[in-house]
Formats: sequence, C-alpha cells, structure tokens
Amino acid sequence: MSCNVCGSGNAVFFLKCADFEFREKQVELSKCGSCGTISVNPLPPDKELSGYYRGNYYEKPGFIFGIIQGLRKVFFSGITPEKVLDIGCGAGTFLKTMKNLGWECSGIEVSESSKKFTRKLKSQGIDVKYGDLLKAGYKKNSFGLITFWHVVEHLKKPGLYLERANELLKKGGLLFIAVPNIDSFSFRLWKSNWFHLDVPRHLNHFSPGTISALVEKNGFRVVKISHYSFEFNPFGVLQSLYNSLGFEFDFLYKLMKKKTRENRGELLSAIVIDFNNPACNGASFCGAGIHVFTGRKRGYDSGAG
Ligand SMILES: [Zn+2]
Repeated sequence: MSCNVCGSGNAVFFLKCADFEFREKQVELSKCGSCGTISVNPLPPDKELSGYYRGNYYEKPGFIFGIIQGLRKVFFSGITPEKVLDIGCGAGTFLKTMKNLGWECSGIEVSESSKKFTRKLKSQGIDVKYGDLLKAGYKKNSFGLITFWHVVEHLKKPGLYLERANELLKKGGLLFIAVPNIDSFSFRLWKSNWFHLDVPRHLNHFSPGTISALVEKNGFRVVKISHYSFEFNPFGVLQSLYNSLGFEFDFLYKLMKKKTRENRGELLSAIVIDFNNPACNGASFCGAGIHVFTGRKRGYDSGAG
C-alpha cells in the first residue's frame, strides 16, 4: 500500500475498526515502513469525510474548554507577544486567549459552520479567514508563532501544510503542533477503543518520533516535545475506558457537548476526581474504578432526550 503522508509504497495493514461517529463503516489503518505514520488507508473521499464533521463537531464544550484554554495560556505566556496565526482556529477560543496576552491574532478555519463566529471575533480585533491555508494569501515571513491545535491529524496531506507554515513563519519564529500520541500507553491499552483514534476524522496518527521527522522534513527543528495535555490525559483515559466497557461509544464526549447545567455538574465532578487523584486514575487504568462512573451513565440517560 502507498503511504498518504510520505508517498512510499511501504505501508502495511495496521488496524481495522468501526468509524467513531456512526459505528457503521469499517475503517482500515496502515503503518508506513518508511516514515512510520499510521494513517487511514485508503483515504475516504472528501464528500464522505464531510459527513463526519456535521452537527456540532466544531462547537467545543464551553466550560471544559475554558479550563483547557487556561492551561494553554501557560504555554505561551512567557513569550514576547507578536503576530500569531492559528490554523484551524474553530470558534477562536485560543486566539481570544492570545489576544488577552497582547498578541496580534489571525486565524484560518476550513469549516463553514464556524463562520457564525466571524463577527464576534472581528469585534475583538481578531482577523479570521475561512478556507484552505494553501489558498489563503498570507504574507511570507510574517508570523512569530503558528499553531496547529489538533489539526495535523485531520489533514490528507499534512506535509503541504507544514511546508506552507514554514514559508509564513518569520526567522526565529515558533511552530506549535498538538496531536494525539499513538505511541502512548493509553493507545496500547485501549487500541480500537482509544478515544483519540477518532477515525476517519483523524486520518493520521503520529508518535513523537514520526511527527518530529515530518516537521524536520518540512524545514523545522524540534525544540521541545512535551506530553502533558489536559484533554489528552485524564479525559482520554475516561472516555477510552467507557468505550472499552461497552457504554455508548464516545458518550462522555457527547455529554460534554451538551450544555445543560446538570450535565456540566456531573462531568466536572467526574473529571476533577480523575484529574486530581492519581490513585483514581490508576484504578481506571486497571478497570477497578467503575463505580466512580456509574452516576455518569445515569446522567447521560437523563440528559440524552
Ligand atoms: Zn510514509
């Protein structure tokens, strides 16, 4: 098989599982013997893929992402503010955070449904475009920071976007990428139930080594790799656990997107327990912590109607 990311003919079958949205279609992943990337193979046609982004996919749950934004802020608060471009900016939550830190903010988003956020973002002085980065007319060498928050795993040709980012970044600028880590303990444990597998929306999966090789191939030098991420640790553990226990697939994530007050209260308590208590986190890993979560299943039932 050929690899979607590097183009070699060295990709071999890796895993097969049902799609994460409808649980109807079998999706196959391959692993490339050359670049090591794990990808959905063959790639679904664009028309089919767009069906997986309908509904409220882009509407990130407000309260929990507020916490995440607070943590993200810490990443960048030590850097002198200049121009930042957030690729795949969604509702612009990250850019609002950066604006508050004094950055000049630009964002680009491919989703039509995010257009409803334009007016609000513009009123806050954030420049936002809709469409494909490769066709957007940004000036070369103009940004001090370019960010891809959970975007690279969605791209059919990630190399082209990194190459473009390299052109847009000015000398001494910084590129920041967040992707799920398929080399993690949680993937090995949960495999096809791993929350972040999210096929076929996540077309590519990387390890620290394969994402480093990809950015280096496109003209970057890796400065630092960090593994801490709020949404990628406690939350992913919880959701993967539920998936493997046969609860409705990704129900916790779906619950998180519901904005009723009762759901928020329940979800917050469950995540805080997991987040603050290593023993609880450990228990959920070995499958002994089920009682902690039974209330959540009830919450889902009552809130699902
Ligand atoms: Zn490859």
